[in-house]
This record gives sequence, structure tokens and C-alpha cells, in this order.
Amino acid sequence: MKLLLTTLNSKYVHSNLALKYLYNAVTGGDFQVDLKEFTLNNEADYVYGEILKPGYDMVCFSCYIWNIEKTKELCANLKAAQPSLKILLGGPEVSFDCADFMEENPWCDYIIRGEGERSIFEFCKNVTLGKPLEGIAGLVLRGAAGRIIDNGLPCVIDLNRLQFPYARLPLDGDKVVYYETSRGCPFRCSYCLSSIDKGIRSLSMDRVKHEFKYFNDRKVKQVKLLDRTFNYDRDRAAEIWKYLIENDNGVTNFHFEICGDLLRDEDFALLEKARPELFRFEIGIQTVNGQVLQAVGRNDNTLKLFENIRRLIKTGNIELHVDLIAGLPGEDMRSFANSFNEVYGTGADEIQLGFLKLLRGTEIRDEADEFGYVFRHKAPYEVISTAGMSAEELVSLKEIERVLDVFYNRGGFGRALSFLMEGTNLSPFDFYEDLARFYHENGYQHRYHKKEDNYRILYGYALAKELMFPIEYKDFTEATMNILKVDLEETMNFDAVKKFYKKGWMFNGK
Ligand code: SF4
Repeated sequence: MKLLLTTLNSKYVHSNLALKYLYNAVTGGDFQVDLKEFTLNNEADYVYGEILKPGYDMVCFSCYIWNIEKTKELCANLKAAQPSLKILLGGPEVSFDCADFMEENPWCDYIIRGEGERSIFEFCKNVTLGKPLEGIAGLVLRGAAGRIIDNGLPCVIDLNRLQFPYARLPLDGDKVVYYETSRGCPFRCSYCLSSIDKGIRSLSMDRVKHEFKYFNDRKVKQVKLLDRTFNYDRDRAAEIWKYLIENDNGVTNFHFEICGDLLRDEDFALLEKARPELFRFEIGIQTVNGQVLQAVGRNDNTLKLFENIRRLIKTGNIELHVDLIAGLPGEDMRSFANSFNEVYGTGADEIQLGFLKLLRGTEIRDEADEFGYVFRHKAPYEVISTAGMSAEELVSLKEIERVLDVFYNRGGFGRALSFLMEGTNLSPFDFYEDLARFYHENGYQHRYHKKEDNYRILYGYALAKELMFPIEYKDFTEATMNILKVDLEETMNFDAVKKFYKKGWMFNGK
């Protein structure tokens, strides 16, 4: 048997960790296994050709909300071209409602649900030996007369029994290296698939240190941990951070998703010693509305969380990314604006304004009617409207997300944004709402703009504000320009700045 493990990643710098585990699980048997990763940006014909031409007997796709629609199209074409080709799907996007999925997609021969390492091993072994597949835990298949047989989710796997995912595969230096030291999450957020996992499992400390050494020795640029809540066990997390601080190679940085309110004094004392840029933390705040948090099953200690976030920012050596989710149950625009203002006030390096997705298999999807959810029925199942937010309001939040990303998250406008917010006397939310309105009314959303043009756009906004209503600053536009100059000169190189001034401050491009 000739087997291909493959997926469509969302960006070139991303890679798929799950496929590497599967590769290790099936390599060494009586069949040939290849692993090829593509991206959503690759031309469909190119991907189709690369999969079809080598004459595989079976292709296994790793499926997520970002790639499922394109994967379905690709699979239908592959099956039409080579009807004998067996198509096996795995991943969170196909692990629920499997029978419906197979009914709707006749080209799909098999699905592996949940953690796939043991199931794919059993599956490949039985296929090679010509043994029946019916009893394999985690496998969904078509039985006699097309009847769909679902063997249910497999038992959870002891991570220590799995091989290091990069043991047999080269590290791709120009991509983010994905890694995990634990699976599962102790929390039960109703919108999250990780809340379904039974319990949390971790790799032994010896293995974790050994594997981090592997990355450090090879001086990879960035290791992104997929652990759902890295510091669920605070002592364990601290021991790993200590190891990484003491064995810092000066190059590699590590990205962790953590629970902010679990940080302790001793963690801060340790983290202060980290080289700037050694660690990047992502903290999901989602909302500060207590009732909303309760409705989705979160018990965050918001006071402690914000105290710790401010403390982390004060240490100045850890890049901090925080998340907010729009469309949670019971949240309206006013409540969301309040969360936004609180979160913005922390000064985190990046604020991700995300939108609730009603993922298959989650509790919130079952509660959709109760909370008045209208959502897209194709992946990524994003919310369209809720009992508290109209579709128009959610669209305006999307517009805010765009300007927040352009002007705040990408950096380079810090002083000007603070000055404009103060000058217009608007709260952070109202300011970004106003800026988003200006941006979209002028049609700037229709195409990508170079960084320098974004300085001109922000200058144009100041000009419009001064004309619209009296602002307490004298010569507001000129003062904005002077501040923008400081931001600009700090961000762009000398030649680019010279070119910018030569061209001037007015921007008419849409
Ligand atoms: S959202 Fe985060 S904390 Fe909540 S269940 Fe998912 S992974 Fe765990």
C-alpha cells in the first residue's frame, strides 16, 4: 500500500503537528508512507496533481475549520479521477457528526475520530494484512450495503508512548515549529473542543527537556506550543520555563497559551529573568462580563487576571497577546465595548478580536437555539447574529477588528493612537469604532495598503476630526502630524522616511 498523509495549512509558515505523529505511528510497516503539506494559497490544480500523479492507494487528510471546504472539493475531484483511491479523513472538523458527513460526501471512505495515532496504526496494519476493520476504535467506515459503522471515539493516549514528532522528519527552519507537552484542558468552556477531552495528559519532564534541547541545539526560530493551557500545573510550567531560561540559545523563542490568573509571585520572579523575546504568551480573556463568563462555563478570576496581565506587561520582556471573543451568549455591544476598553487599557502587545464559532461537537452548538444564535452552517461556523447582537453590529465589529489589526497589532502607531484617542476624547472602543467608520467610509478596506500609506490614512483621520468638531488641542492636525512623524521615523528606515516626506502626507488611494 502506498499512503499519503496530507493537509492544507492556512499559511506557508504553519505546519501540521498531527500529521507528524501519524507519520511516526505508521512508518516502518509494510507500506510506503509519504507526508506532504500544502497551503490554502497553493493552486488547486497543483495540489490535485501532486496527490494524484504518484499513484497512491490511500490519502489521509487532516481536517480543520479552515481547510474543510477546500479539502472536500479536492477529495471529490481525486475520487472522480481515480475511483480506486481510498480517502481517509481525520482531525477535529470530521470527528463529530461523522455518519452525516459520510452520507453527504460519498467519496469519503473512512474517518478517524479524535486522537488518531493508535487508530491509524491498527487501520494500516489490518489493511495490509487483509484483516477486518470493523473493530478498530476511532474508525468510521462503510459496512455492508453502505451502512455506516461508527466505532466511537478511541481511548485517550499516553503521550509518553508516542515518538517525538520530529524524530524521523526534518525541522523546517523557515516555518513555525509546532510542539506539545500536554493534551487536553482542565477547563470546560462551552465553545471549545478541548473542553470535550477527558482529562489532561502530559509528557514526562525528562522528555520535555530533552526535546526542547533538540530545538535549542538546532537554533530553530520559533517553537509554538499547542498545549491548551500550558500552566494548568503551575510547578510543571515553572520547571519548564526555568529550563528554557537557563538553556537559552539566544535565538529560539517559545510561544505558550496560558491561563493568566494562575500566575504566582514566584512565576513572576522567574519570568523576569527571561531574555526579551524568549517567551511569548497568549492569554484568552474573551470577556470581562461575569454573567457571560458563567454562561460559557468559565470561572476566571478577572481581578487577578488583569492584575497579572499588568504585571506581565510591566516586566517588559514577554510579548503578550490577548484574545477577546465577540458574540458570546448574553453579550451585547455595550458589554463588549466594556470588555474591549478594559483589555485595551492593559496595553497588551496584541489584541485579537475574534468571533464566536459554533463548532461541531461543542456544547454551545447544542445551545444555539436557546441563545438565539444564527450562524454560518459551513465552516468556520461563525456567528451571524445573537440575541444580544445584530448582524449589522457584528459587521461593525469586523470593521473595528480590521483597523485594530492595521494600526494597533502591527505596531508603529503607538504614540499617534494615544494622542488621537485623547484628542477626540473617546474611549478606546468608541475611538476604534470611529476610526473604522472613517476607514470604511473612505473605501480604504478595498485593497491592501503599504505601511507608509497607513500613516497618511491616520493623518487624514485627524484632519477629518478637526474639521468635524472642536478639539481642545490647538492645531490638532499639525500636532498629530508631529507625533506621527516620531512613530514613522522609529518604524521605517531612513530612505523610506525620506521618500515618504518627499511624497507628502495626503493619501487619495482607495
Ligand atoms: S477555551 Fe482554553 S481554557 Fe477553555 S476549554 Fe478551551 S483550551 Fe481550555
